Amino acid sequence: MRRHNLALVLREVVRAEPVSRAAIAGRTGLTRGTVSSLVEELLDAGLLDELAAERGAPGRPASPLQLNRSGPAGLGIEIEVDHVAACVVDLTGAVRAIARLASDHRDRDPALALARVAELARAVRAEAALPVVGAVVAVPGVVGADGVVVRAPNLPRWSGADVGPLLTPLLGGLPVTTANEADLAALAELWFADGPPDAMYVSGGVGVGAGIVLGGRLFRGAGGRAGELGHVVVDADGPACRCGGRGCLEQTAGLEALLRAAGAADLDALPDAPRAAAALDGAAAALGVALAGAVNLLDVPVVVLGGIYSRLGAAWCDDVHARLCERVVHRSDVAVRLSTLAPGGALRAAAASVVRARLRSP
Ligand SMILES: [Zn+2]
Repeated sequence: MRRHNLALVLREVVRAEPVSRAAIAGRTGLTRGTVSSLVEELLDAGLLDELAAERGAPGRPASPLQLNRSGPAGLGIEIEVDHVAACVVDLTGAVRAIARLASDHRDRDPALALARVAELARAVRAEAALPVVGAVVAVPGVVGADGVVVRAPNLPRWSGADVGPLLTPLLGGLPVTTANEADLAALAELWFADGPPDAMYVSGGVGVGAGIVLGGRLFRGAGGRAGELGHVVVDADGPACRCGGRGCLEQTAGLEALLRAAGAADLDALPDAPRAAAALDGAAAALGVALAGAVNLLDVPVVVLGGIYSRLGAAWCDDVHARLCERVVHRSDVAVRLSTLAPGGALRAAAASVVRARLRSP
């Protein structure tokens, strides 16, 4: 009960900081005495901070409360095909230190990326100088309920990797959990970009992943495997895919397929590539087909395109929208927009999930 009430008080502070004890009592229905005692506990735990009393008001001056910017912090880590990144957020979710390092992991042993991650983590922790209480690692692969990477088609040597136990000793014993990159990016839209409670986030890259948010919560499926949009079939007789199937979305709208079709060496060269228009058109058509299937199944009103897709421009996004709407049965109002957070949304959400968990169960 006490724990529940501590969380209740914290929720009020998160919602309306800076806020007085009296206002918390008014909004929660707890007595002022109870609120004062809970607040003392939260101040001692370093979760709350007391601002200077407001002068001039009659009676005893009230000291408003806010989340402690020097309190428990979260470490976010991102392991991608071509880079690693780390950041520290404070209790409010604000980024206090961030670093990124180009590093190719395609056919490398996970130990290499983990050593680089440990180095980056040391740097951001030193810069933020906050008491970090846990880490969440974002990976571009399916993560099982036990935190083990089940399948990462673009990082084949990571299949079966149990990142937590491998990384914890390199981070001085810090508790580490692992999550899917697109799932975290979807939460980032919800938490940091006022995203709607029902939406699908699509992360374009070498692979194409989706994070699905329904009723304000992440939908992960029975075993954490939901959101494999990249392996939705858009052409039954299409090219072979690394998953063993054929004609998957990734084979038309994934980064490598897109660059190959356009005749471009990298994303920067794409706009001027000889077959850019046809390649972008093909990717928009394929993505529209896959998304229409998803919208018909899930009835989500908003689709957010992130990763490399956020760099393909508003006209391309409109094209995806048109292709999607051609095939959606019941919804005439599906919005498709480019993410304003990407890149870095998943990384920030990884770190923020550590502090949000602490605020939920103080
Ligand atoms: Zn596939």
